[in-house]
This record gives sequence, structure tokens and C-alpha cells, in this order.
Amino acid sequence: MKKEHTYVECTGCKWQLEQNIVPDRDWEKTPCPKCKNTRLMIDPKEYLCNMCGEGMCPNITVPSGKWSSDVPHGLFESSVTGGYESYHLMDMTKYTFSFCEKCLRELFIKCKIPPKLNDLGFSANFEYVDGEERDWKDELESYEYRIWKDAGGHHEAYMNKKCNAKKDCPSRAVYTKLYNDHDFTEDCCCEKHKPLRQYANSKLVKFIPNVLKTFL
Ligand SMILES: [Zn+2]
Ligand SMILES: [Zn+2]
Ligand SMILES: [Zn+2]
Repeated sequence: MKKEHTYVECTGCKWQLEQNIVPDRDWEKTPCPKCKNTRLMIDPKEYLCNMCGEGMCPNITVPSGKWSSDVPHGLFESSVTGGYESYHLMDMTKYTFSFCEKCLRELFIKCKIPPKLNDLGFSANFEYVDGEERDWKDELESYEYRIWKDAGGHHEAYMNKKCNAKKDCPSRAVYTKLYNDHDFTEDCCCEKHKPLRQYANSKLVKFIPNVLKTFL
């Protein structure tokens, strides 16, 4: 069953034309990769994950507010073909499907043998190359921390004067992190997790609890 798409104004072109970034852009020579100069693109809401039926384009919160991507993320329109010796797939049948990042995460977690992870680096001609291998457990912990933070755990720990550099750290907060040496954050940590809070553009000071925040 084939479904007709709905088209919307191409965000790539709209942005380029509105901002007039490259006034003398030769559109013939460097066509818009999103719409091939038709100024129209498939409505990103139509890119759906086969597994959960939800959208493939992430919605994220950036400093300027909520932002929805129009680029499908995850395994998008991937395909696998069954062959003569196939059993669980049918011979001469091509299966095309999309799995969103959330469903991929769930699949990875279910894996008896976890996926191999590499940090990506750049080659001499700026192509991505596999860098150092990354530990799956460590990566999963970072993911769980992100989910915990977004669900309010990080804020709650701060309110309870607990370290929030690690998910569910039972220790009391000893330090507060300031960005650019003076901007207050709710990022705090215990003595043990101090290294997790030390970045170049930040500074650790004695813990500033919520009641003192207003005096900053
Ligand atoms: Zn375009
Ligand atoms: Zn999904
Ligand atoms: Zn801690």
C-alpha cells in the first residue's frame, strides 16, 4: 500500500532565503539537499517508526526554547533482503523499515551481546573514522543519567542538597558548579564526584542551596 505524502515549505531553503546567508548562491550548482530546489519537502511528521508508530524527528529543548528537527533520526528506511538460505525472512523479499532512536535503545538494551561502540574521530580528509572503543555499560549509564535528569531527578537531588553528578548518588552536595565563573547552575556534587563537574569554562564553589540562591 503506497501512501501519498504531504509536502510543506522546505525549512532549509526558507532559512537560507530569509537570512540571505549566501546572497549570490548558485542554486543550480549547489541545490538544496533537502528539496532539490523544489522549495517543498515531505512533512517531517510523516516519517514514522515502524516499531512504536511515533515520529522519527527528535524534539529537543535548546536554550532558545523547544525545537523540532525535520531530519529523521535512527535507522531510517533501512532494508534487509531474504535469500535462498533464509528461514526467518522470505527468499527474494525486501523488508524496508524505520526504527526511531528510542526503539533502537530498547533493542540495544535487550541484546544479549551489546553493540560495539566507538567514539568517532576525523581522518585527514575529514571523514568519520572509528576511534577508541567505548564501554557499553558506561554509555548506558550516561543515557540513564540523561533520562533521570529530564525526569526531574537532578533538580530534586539539588533541592534535597544531594550530589547530582551521578544518578541517585546518596552523598550530600559539597560543591556547586558555576558557569563562566559566575553563572549559577543547579549542578552540584559530592567530594567523590568532583571530577565529573570540572570543565574548562566552569568553577566549583562551596555548595549554594536553594534558600541562598536568591542572594546571588
Ligand atoms: Zn530546500
Ligand atoms: Zn520507535
Ligand atoms: Zn556524588
